Amino acid sequence: MPAIPNKSQLVIIGAGPGGYSAAFRAAELGLQVCLIDPETDPGGVCLYRGCIPSKALLHVARVITEAEESAALGVTFGRPRLDIDRIRDWKNGVIAQLTGGLGGRVAKLKLTHLQGTARFKDSRTLVVKTVDGAEGELSFEQAILAGGSRPVMLPGVQTGGRISDSSGALELAEVPQSLLVVGGGYIGLELGSVYAALGSQVSVVEMTAGLLPGCDRDLVSVLKRRLEKQFSEILLNTRVTGLKEQKNGVAVSFEDQKGERSDKHFARVLIAIGRRPNSDNLGLDNTAIKLDEKGFVPVDGQQRTAERHIFAIGDLAGEPMLAHKATAEAHVAAAVAAGQKAVFEPRAIPAVVFTDPEIAWCGLTETAAREQKRKVKTAKMPWRGNGRTLTLGRDDGMTKLIIDPENDRLLGVGLVGPGAGELIAEAVLALEMAATAEDLRGTIHPHPTLSETLYETAQMLFKG
Ligand code: NAD
Repeated sequence: MPAIPNKSQLVIIGAGPGGYSAAFRAAELGLQVCLIDPETDPGGVCLYRGCIPSKALLHVARVITEAEESAALGVTFGRPRLDIDRIRDWKNGVIAQLTGGLGGRVAKLKLTHLQGTARFKDSRTLVVKTVDGAEGELSFEQAILAGGSRPVMLPGVQTGGRISDSSGALELAEVPQSLLVVGGGYIGLELGSVYAALGSQVSVVEMTAGLLPGCDRDLVSVLKRRLEKQFSEILLNTRVTGLKEQKNGVAVSFEDQKGERSDKHFARVLIAIGRRPNSDNLGLDNTAIKLDEKGFVPVDGQQRTAERHIFAIGDLAGEPMLAHKATAEAHVAAAVAAGQKAVFEPRAIPAVVFTDPEIAWCGLTETAAREQKRKVKTAKMPWRGNGRTLTLGRDDGMTKLIIDPENDRLLGVGLVGPGAGELIAEAVLALEMAATAEDLRGTIHPHPTLSETLYETAQMLFKG
């Protein structure tokens, strides 16, 4: 590792998709960059303990489920033999390949990469501690905060042992006989699906009235129908009131909406009740930056904080806490730091839940339109009317368009079905280009594909 320098043109704290994207772009634009992060190579939560390992395990889940379900198509496989050590090694290999590649770019672009942590001493100086025990002061001209987020824990609950957060669950220490997932959001449903496919009896407990609160109910209901077959139970409107780790499992107490209490026992528990920004460990008190009520660092359209020479991006800078939003903000912050004109003003940020079926959406949802008392036209098409869906041995899925009745512009698109996450990019481009329903129906889509549901749904808005 290089020695801690005395000064730097641009310091970037955190090397996840936000931090490393900012570092690479800034270096390409000619800035001298110092990137600080505790891991050996860039990658952050997304590569080491989030998006990438979860998608690798979801692929394994998909292979298992498709093999099982192919009996209905006349192809029968035997029971799969799972070698958990090999699955884990393969998943870790994917992580190593990607993070190693990023490490290679750090070297190629001649970035100063310090493996350690940093805290503000004042608004122009950081105290840096490296993992090998060195400590030093680093003064900087500009800084980008990209420290990401961490899981929220239930009060008084410690992870380790049989209770884990997403990082613990992704380590795949074992496949427990039973698993309780607390939280029916992105992480709970994705990792619950993985463990269900690997053979655990999975229960999900969600405190609100539905899975994936905030997501369109039409889309969620398609997913829920399939999850009800994969999971042992889905408890809605239910809270966990107690968790007690025992020798052979965890005793869990629940309370439902009516105040009725029950107790159950699970081999393991995964807590996935949201994430919070890592804004409390940066010494921001020693700067003029004040956090908002959720702990996010307020920024303007150029990602500048209350200290104009300090930028914040990614999970630290607000919702949605998604890697691709961090990357887009990183490119803005790096360009502005290098003296260019840039602003973060996307028309749509896609969101994807990588369950089976996947849910993906962008732009306005019907729920949000209702909350805003905004008039919209909607069109929805179940995928069982799409040839490609049936040739995949599936009949579940839906495409939903939200249209402005004044001018026919697309305001939002929601998809649920196999591969929805890959299809949503077309909708994001359509929104960015201010496309109308007519544009969508007039665009030739390849046949037979799932993408045809986009123009077919648009077609439903027209007579003839
Ligand atoms: P989430 O906000 O998606 O879901 C948390 C769920 O837990 C919510 O439904 C909430 O109502 C519920 N909950 C909260 N407290 C509870 C309690 N005490 N008992 C029962 N339920 C409770 O959060 P997450 O799943 O932890 O994921 C965190 C963030 O990580 C997401 O918001 C997302 O930004 C990001 N993420 C994205 C992806 C993806 O893009 N595919 C995948 C995983 C995570």
